[in-house]
Amino acid sequence: MVQERITDRPANRLNGSGRQRPAPGSSTRAVHGGARRRKAYGALTMPIVQTATYAFNDTQELIDFMDRKTWGDGSDREEYGRYGNPTVAAVESKLAALDGGEDAVLYASGMNAVTSLLLSVLSSGGHVVMTDDCYRRTRQFCLTFLKRFGIETTIVPMGDYAALEAAIIPKKTRFIISESPTNPYLRIADLEKIAHLGKKYRVLTLIDSTFATPVNQRPLEWGIDFVLHSATKYLSGHHDLLAGVVVGQADRIRALRDARGVLGGVVDPQNAYLLERGIKTLAVRVAQQNRTALAVARYLESHPRIERVWYPGLESHPDHTTAAAQMRGFGGVVSFEVAGDLETTGRFIDHLRIPYIAPSLGGVESLIEQPALMSYYEKTTEERLALGIKDNLVRFAIGIEDTDDILDDLEQALAAIS
Ligand SMILES: *Cc1c(COP(=O)(O)O)cnc(C)c1O
Repeated sequence: MVQERITDRPANRLNGSGRQRPAPGSSTRAVHGGARRRKAYGALTMPIVQTATYAFNDTQELIDFMDRKTWGDGSDREEYGRYGNPTVAAVESKLAALDGGEDAVLYASGMNAVTSLLLSVLSSGGHVVMTDDCYRRTRQFCLTFLKRFGIETTIVPMGDYAALEAAIIPKKTRFIISESPTNPYLRIADLEKIAHLGKKYRVLTLIDSTFATPVNQRPLEWGIDFVLHSATKYLSGHHDLLAGVVVGQADRIRALRDARGVLGGVVDPQNAYLLERGIKTLAVRVAQQNRTALAVARYLESHPRIERVWYPGLESHPDHTTAAAQMRGFGGVVSFEVAGDLETTGRFIDHLRIPYIAPSLGGVESLIEQPALMSYYEKTTEERLALGIKDNLVRFAIGIEDTDDILDDLEQALAAIS
């Protein structure tokens, strides 16, 4: 059966002998991964099961269902919308197949995935080690919300694995949280080292892989326990919905799904459908975004009006070697510093015709932002510098427009401020 061929195969790196047929590629997984061949009504696409609850024909059917749920190994039907939905389940299987995990659980947003995972696993008195440069709201959740429940967080510099190891408190640390690539400097975590430290100290490891997508990087193949994505970004790919996902081992994901039934962060079936539809083109979109981003990074690096370019595909990036070893592509985001101040940088952005000025990334439309004005507006130049955010920094999240059109657009905007 196609379903088994595509979902139940171990990840590439774990195949071992090399005599097995290789696992399907990203685009095949994106289109067919996790999908059942037979769907209701013989529909080719997964129907949107737009219901809040599920009815039983009679009391006996209810009793049979409860028996199977309580004493058997699950059931093939649903009971109530907060506990499950077939359209949502279809997306979850596809996401598990894409990341090479056993199962996946979908949430209402990326932050909902982060908070639900941490609330489900951590208890008071616990401890988290996190690399700096992590998503700002994830950091905020750990440093303020979790702290109120007696869970401490130690932040260590990205790339300093001795500091990371030293920060682990045996029997107390439950989680190592990192992100790769990070925002906005696109730092790359060494997944093998983090997984090794997790196993050595029996600490769970989590990688927020949103910027990479399963096309460019699969942390589970390196021994990471949980991979998380804001599906709002590349996975959905069209800037039209919010969702988040956690992928990992079946028993752990089952526990998270049970906790979701309590915490309540479910995705609407409509959005689940749109997400699945978006994912089918993930690999072709990301291939185009990887290609354009590398061309943009190289072009900007050679331009006299650009002071510095941050892109893991460039040899000048501090983590290029790690990126080249563990990624299949370097992603669609390029950060760079314009030669000039806050105002000149804003003028450059205003001269661009293709990208929208907007937060977020990963969709078909290119988006551009000056982090000093978007995410750090309330801070002074000095406060921003202390956080590593320069006034002239630009984050360019590349869409699927033609590479040459994007290069031409950059050229005319740079000429306009020269
Ligand atoms: C956007 C983002 C999130 C949060 O996701 P939402 O879907 O906006 O809640 C988390 N991590 C990273 C790296 C992100 O880019």
